[in-house]
Amino acid sequence: MASQTEPEPTLLPAEVTRIRIPITDGSEPETSGYLLRHANDSVTIVDPGESSSLARSAVDCALASAGSPAVAAIFVTHAHRDHAAGAPALARRYDVPVIIHPAELAETEASRDDSWRERRNRQLREWGVPKDQAKAMLGSPHLLPDWQDIKLLLVTDGELLPFSNERFQVVGVPGHTAGSLALFAVADSLLLSGDHLLGHRHVGVGIGADSGIDPIGDQLASLERLRNIGPAVIAPGHGGPFAKVEDRITSERAHLLRRLAEVRSSLDRAPTLSLWQRAATLTWRRPWAELDSRQRRVALTQLAHFVSHLDHVRE
Ligand SMILES: [Zn+2]
Repeated sequence: MASQTEPEPTLLPAEVTRIRIPITDGSEPETSGYLLRHANDSVTIVDPGESSSLARSAVDCALASAGSPAVAAIFVTHAHRDHAAGAPALARRYDVPVIIHPAELAETEASRDDSWRERRNRQLREWGVPKDQAKAMLGSPHLLPDWQDIKLLLVTDGELLPFSNERFQVVGVPGHTAGSLALFAVADSLLLSGDHLLGHRHVGVGIGADSGIDPIGDQLASLERLRNIGPAVIAPGHGGPFAKVEDRITSERAHLLRRLAEVRSSLDRAPTLSLWQRAATLTWRRPWAELDSRQRRVALTQLAHFVSHLDHVRE
């Protein structure tokens, strides 16, 4: 069993260990989970990764390297499958609660039934996706494993992380999802950011069963919030910890504002296009014609959020 833990003495305090957790079917190779060691030597596992034997063994290795401490709780920054799907099995195994924001329960509720299909079909119709394309774009549900019978400890912005002896403060950073949470260790000036802010790429906004009313507005506000908190180091949900946080915030904000300007000028030029038609006229990381069905669905979701933000600020 290869060790997936990395001592990172330069950026992380001794009580925080990064776990590199492989993703078996995503666009990224791995997520970053963390072990937080508390004063009584127990640990909280942050974002245990997807539900796979590879992910499970990465977490097991990290626990073994840490001397097999008692597990106090599992904390999930948000309920996306690549961060949280492994949480229920671990919670059952250690008989501990999963700490999560209430808005993320929409994601776990959506995993219990078939309503995603109806929701997505309705969306594709509203976006003006042609019938012959809609079927391929429907895709499959991003279902989480069964969360029933899991003890949930619901937390929101401003609370202290349970079991952490007041070391970590819970910070609400809605945008990527409506219930995205970060953890801030004041004494270490360290913030665990989940998918709110990454070091190596821009994050998607409003991705989940509950996107909130204006995810772009939420994300911009959360970035401002983060700037005010001013952590020296960020430990993100993908990739390694990084400093120069202010620069990353500035670049993420500039990226969103650039995109908003592009969408605004498209709306001014051609106000009656459907979302599907408009998408084909905008710039994407790759040409629109080359994007596959899943990428197009994600792209349209993002575009819908940008349009609704502009509606929102116009009102
Ligand atoms: Zn995510």
